[in-house]
Amino acid sequence: MSSSAGGSARGVVNGGVSFWYADDGLPARREPLAGDASADVVIVGGGYTGLWTAYYLKKADPSLRVTVLEQKFCGYGASGRNGGWLYNGIAGRDRYAKLHGLEAAVRLQKAMNDTVAEVVKVAEAERIQADIHRGGVLEVACTPAQLSRLKAFHEHESSYGEKDRELYGARETAERIRVADAVGSTWTPHGARLHPVKLVKGLAGAAEALGVVIYESTPVTEIRPRCAVTPYGSVRAPYVLRCTEGFTASLKGQRRTWLPMNSSMIATEPLTDEQWESVGWGGLETLGDMAHAYMYAQRTADGRIALGGRGVPYRFGSKTDNDGRTQTATIEALREILVRFFPSLAGLRIEHAWSGVLGVPRDWCATVTLDRSTGLGWAGGYVGSGVATTNLAARTLRDLVQQDSGQAGPTELTALPWVGHKVRKWEPEPFRWLGVQGMYATYRAADRRELSGHSAESSRLAQWADRVSGRH
Ligand SMILES: Cc1cc2nc3c(=O)[nH]c(=O)nc-3n(C[C@H](O)[C@H](O)[C@H](O)COP(=O)(O)OP(=O)(O)OC[C@H]3O[C@@H](n4cnc5c(N)ncnc54)[C@H](O)[C@@H]3O)c2cc1C
Repeated sequence: MSSSAGGSARGVVNGGVSFWYADDGLPARREPLAGDASADVVIVGGGYTGLWTAYYLKKADPSLRVTVLEQKFCGYGASGRNGGWLYNGIAGRDRYAKLHGLEAAVRLQKAMNDTVAEVVKVAEAERIQADIHRGGVLEVACTPAQLSRLKAFHEHESSYGEKDRELYGARETAERIRVADAVGSTWTPHGARLHPVKLVKGLAGAAEALGVVIYESTPVTEIRPRCAVTPYGSVRAPYVLRCTEGFTASLKGQRRTWLPMNSSMIATEPLTDEQWESVGWGGLETLGDMAHAYMYAQRTADGRIALGGRGVPYRFGSKTDNDGRTQTATIEALREILVRFFPSLAGLRIEHAWSGVLGVPRDWCATVTLDRSTGLGWAGGYVGSGVATTNLAARTLRDLVQQDSGQAGPTELTALPWVGHKVRKWEPEPFRWLGVQGMYATYRAADRRELSGHSAESSRLAQWADRVSGRH
């Protein structure tokens, strides 16, 4: 692994896929595909979506031949790099409410709440030790404008049936965690902190133990009806499921389907007991804020802070990063957020920095689909909320395959409003690049304006960027 040079980023391990791999070890690779093969279901991509789908399909029907094709190793993508927020957020819920009515969106939200519990339950049943701690999700506001957004957000979430969500003032927030300038927070119990890599490794092992066949170092170059093509041979199957999220643009014909958006993270050295004393955070909630270019963080099982944010959001031509390496400027920007939140930790060493890609559809709505005429299916477009959503997507893909093959009828999951949703493609370059750069420059300008001003009104700049990007 290499070090990035310059400024306070000196000495930081940059890339190496992620801190989680530095902590838990890179896996030994499974064998690649060794020639043409066949299966009942072939899954492209060995992240949470692909592995959960393989797991549930095999659980439902042990006789099914399920093959996973992974270009590098299971967990190479966002599933091995994320912030470890297992929570009930799902990209696109508000749009689904507009398209299908509030009742349908409430069902989707309820399914997401249940999904958090499902992941915890299966991890326990499969003895996957993923440092899961169910402390909920705490989101803080640090300016008047953030506070009014926080209150509106709290009300909005409650309107989707989340009656157990709580709103805290400055004092109650400080009792949980001492974030400088925090004037309020909202907390939901539907969230847990976890170690992403321990989950993805455990999941791959659990799927294999059920008889799922996993080939690694096997990039799929083209997906056709009933066939996945790789340099080592093709796998034929009645169902081919694309589970490639932020990497989807590299597949033939998919360049403008989901935009690969970067998210970057840093992990600090472990804090001392005195430092934890000054910070609080005894409930191990996952922590977020109400900025337009928001941050997310967790207290790791070994006593570090892992904190993420957007950094450089998008690379021209839908390129993805090099094994998680991120820009020096991004590391510095994340360190500044850490110090703004916890000024007493200004001297804390950043040990690791990395990035990964999310899949962003043109309308920012996650979706799960099985095309019954071709047998092609896919799930993704989770934006930044995939740790739990992938599990719901996988159980839904299972139900869609079972329904199509006549093994079962429609289920509660196949009736959810994100099933079969269609969205237009992103604009060609350079418009794609210009649009995303412009959007995030605008968010950052709006955050700066809110931090320096005292208005309780959200910056109009950010509202404009939301509209132009198709986000709201
Ligand atoms: C830095 C970061 C932080 C995040 N934090 C959170 C968080 O805290 N909470 C949350 O809910 N979500 C978070 N997310 C999002 C979440 O991690 C993802 O939504 C989720 O992991 C997506 O899982 P996936 O299996 O669909 O995609 P991935 O994990 O990206 O898996 C796709 C897999 O497909 C493989 N692949 C791609 N193309 C091919 C091909 N052609 N042939 C074969 N294999 C291929 C890749 O190598 C990869 O292993 C974060 C994401 C990032 C990047």
